[in-house]
Amino acid sequence: MKASRKDNHRKSLFDESMEAFYRAAELIKLDPRVRLELEEPDFEHIFYITIETRDRLVPVTKEEEARFKDLPASSVKAGEALEPLANGQLVLHRRALLKADITLREGVLRIPKRGLFRIEKGGPKKFKAYRIQYNQVRGPYKGGVRFHKDVSLDLFKALAADMTWKTAIADIPFGGAKGGVRIDPSAYSKEEIEHVSLRFIYKLKSIIGPYVDIPAPDVNTNPEIMAIMMRQFTDGERMPHAMRGVVTGKDVRIGGSEGRAKATGQGTVYCLEEWARWRGESLAGKRVLVQGFGNVGTASAEILHALGAKIVGVQDAYGTIHNEKGLDVPALLAHAATPENLRRSVEGFTGGTKVAREDFWKLDAEIAIPAALGGSITGDVAENLRVQVVAEAANGPTTPEGDKVLGDRKIDLIPDIICNAGGVTVSYYEWLQNLRMEHWTEADVNNRLERAIKANFGIIHDIATNSPQKTPLYDSRRFVVGKKIDMRTAAMALALRRIENHYLLEGFSQ
Ligand code: NAD
Repeated sequence: MKASRKDNHRKSLFDESMEAFYRAAELIKLDPRVRLELEEPDFEHIFYITIETRDRLVPVTKEEEARFKDLPASSVKAGEALEPLANGQLVLHRRALLKADITLREGVLRIPKRGLFRIEKGGPKKFKAYRIQYNQVRGPYKGGVRFHKDVSLDLFKALAADMTWKTAIADIPFGGAKGGVRIDPSAYSKEEIEHVSLRFIYKLKSIIGPYVDIPAPDVNTNPEIMAIMMRQFTDGERMPHAMRGVVTGKDVRIGGSEGRAKATGQGTVYCLEEWARWRGESLAGKRVLVQGFGNVGTASAEILHALGAKIVGVQDAYGTIHNEKGLDVPALLAHAATPENLRRSVEGFTGGTKVAREDFWKLDAEIAIPAALGGSITGDVAENLRVQVVAEAANGPTTPEGDKVLGDRKIDLIPDIICNAGGVTVSYYEWLQNLRMEHWTEADVNNRLERAIKANFGIIHDIATNSPQKTPLYDSRRFVVGKKIDMRTAAMALALRRIENHYLLEGFSQ
């Protein structure tokens, strides 16, 4: 029984991502009213944000350069007053012009050691923003905020649904949400991103809160942005300290949790440890490919490296590097963190060889970790993979076609809704610590996280292999469906059972 909304139009990302939902719903005979509640989000908020942008210095084109070759250099105050952006432009702060000696021709000037730039006037810029609140039957809406040029309602619906399944799998008392802004952050200054973050929360203030909807970092958002968002939400309130749980993923010095920064990567590694244990193996010596070198990719690589695995290939948005002997991960992290490396990219790292983008997933390894954006493991990519397991640290990295090929080729899969659940699990610990005004040690956090991920991954494995059992850590007997099924459907079956319990025991809202 498929919903009628699936007819008459090209498959959207949301429709694709719901395929596992429908499969699992059929299999466990999900209550029809619960299915209806879960087929669409509770709320879809779409709104606009306007900020003032500063003037820019934009590099002139190669053709134009010849016309200005005799233009003398201007002496402007460089440093942070001319703020370099990752897209090659400079933000022109007016203080750069104080005591400056400028030669301008047709709006073009020469900056010493940097070249020729045209001044472009700043002004108001408008951005489309979203917050999708998918379901809250198990607790407050919970999900990340993404700043990216390719976001859409369709994408956020899919990601918000994923959060609903993920919080149920992690067995934490939250629902699912997602949102963000359609913006290319590489084209904006720190101050402009701050203004976008402030306006985003200003507009959402009446529909988020520690008991309502709790944002967190996702692609291109980070602890600094969470701090700005928390301040905006609590500003002017009489009890701001009681509201710190409005966002998670904060810096540990202002109410963030120890272990949160690495939690998503750590959760992925706990899953991989279990995967290796089931095979009677260990992670030491295994060769790993990591796509994405941001929060999740760096943490996964760093933790696996420390366990003796070899990170043989890394790809990010700007470059791909390979070293069959294993990359020196601490050196690679240092390379990405140098202040001049504005894109935080692996590009230019000398401890490996450059590889063509399209050849990355063909590299020899045992473990593939997509930790960037969705849709990277397509059918074609899956055909060429030479690994034993795909650990989905990113959200939705495998297309339905890719899924099919992985299954046919008997490549193991650790589905995203358990593989990257470490982030939201430690977000829950952060929220608890905020409410209780406590601060837990990193060891405490990681011990709890390890138990939670390994127990829930164990249940999913038991559902997939139809092996009901009660262990000291968990009881999977209530969740198995009486036959072997794939891991993605098994994960979804676990999520749906837990969500269904709430509806069936509490009843439905009006
Ligand atoms: P991030 O912004 O810190 O890093 C993203 C990385 O992906 C960057 O290295 C970027 O260069 C790379 N990238 C972007 N486009 C790419 C492309 N086309 N090819 C190769 N690399 C590309 O983001 P993040 O927080 O690490 O999130 C990564 C993924 O993990 C996302 O799918 C996100 O939804 C998911 N996730 C994140 C968290 C979290 O706690 N941050 C939790 C759960 C899931």
